[in-house]
Amino acid sequence: MRIVVLAGGIGGARFLRGLKDALHNRADQADSQPEITVIGNTGDDITLFGLRVCPDLDTVMYTLGGGINEEQGWGRADETFTVREELIAYGMQPQWFGLGDRDVATHIVRSQMLAAGYPLSAVTEALCDRWRPGVRLLPMTDDQVETHVLVEDGSGRRAIHFQEWWVRYRAQTPAQAFVSVGADSAEPAPGVLAAVEEADLVLLPPSNPVVSVGSILGVPGIREAVAAKTVVGVSPIIGGAPVRGMADACLSAIGVETSARAVAEHYGPELLDGWLVDDTDADAAVDGVTVRAMPLYMSDPERTEAIARAAVDLAVELGGRS
Ligand code: GDP
Ligand code: CA
Repeated sequence: MRIVVLAGGIGGARFLRGLKDALHNRADQADSQPEITVIGNTGDDITLFGLRVCPDLDTVMYTLGGGINEEQGWGRADETFTVREELIAYGMQPQWFGLGDRDVATHIVRSQMLAAGYPLSAVTEALCDRWRPGVRLLPMTDDQVETHVLVEDGSGRRAIHFQEWWVRYRAQTPAQAFVSVGADSAEPAPGVLAAVEEADLVLLPPSNPVVSVGSILGVPGIREAVAAKTVVGVSPIIGGAPVRGMADACLSAIGVETSARAVAEHYGPELLDGWLVDDTDADAAVDGVTVRAMPLYMSDPERTEAIARAAVDLAVELGGRS
């Protein structure tokens, strides 16, 4: 079985861990080795202190590779912050983004390889050589695509980087719009379209529908390729609120209600075949989409595996090849 997953950071990475467990147990019964290709969001990427940082790719890589800070959900385990303290002592800006020492090493390797001319997809593969995430991790594009946020506050109307809005302002300054800078002329990274075309099914984990899954689908060609497949999504919204993070601030900026039903309608029946919602949202009906309810909190490995298994089962039921 070949599965493609479009993933953001924490929600995407945790779901993927459950999916690996689910497929591992399934493969014990069948004798085919399942393959998972992850198309990672790079819209959150940012250059800080001359280093290229890819938060969502790294969250997936560290989570599946066993290097993640489990409590936090992002960054390295056993992290120290000496470099950050020294930068602050020099008065270096920005100071709102916490780069740990171990994490910095990843960004140095990445930045050096990019400067030498390697595309991000090749750099990601090289980094995964160490972390062995057990999935094929592809950036959505090798081109630079950055999500910027149009805000208006005391300093007037301006566009700031998504990370500044999310991390520095905690998404408290209302967003007027999101701009995927560079998306128009971006191309899917090598292997992305082929992986989707060869996939038996495509899964949308509980990732941010606007700035994670939305950014991936915004790379020309990806949405059409995905829509042609059997696609099942897992709602990141439970009982009218995001489980963690500020996805509601992203949804309201694009005029979508924060509910499991509204997110499915936003993706639309052209893209989505099946949609998993939490039991709380069992009454969510979406025209043209098969909705199924179950507990959707990824509170422990068993529950997360059950969610992933349900997503695969629904996709197979809806026509995905198994
Ligand atoms: P980010 O890049 O770290 O923001 O991660 P993602 O793009 O993967 O998006 C995080 C989304 O996952 C948020 O909208 C959360 O509401 C959602 N989420 C996090 N944990 C859970 C969970 O346990 N269950 C469900 N259903 N959604 C979750
Ligand atoms: Ca993200």
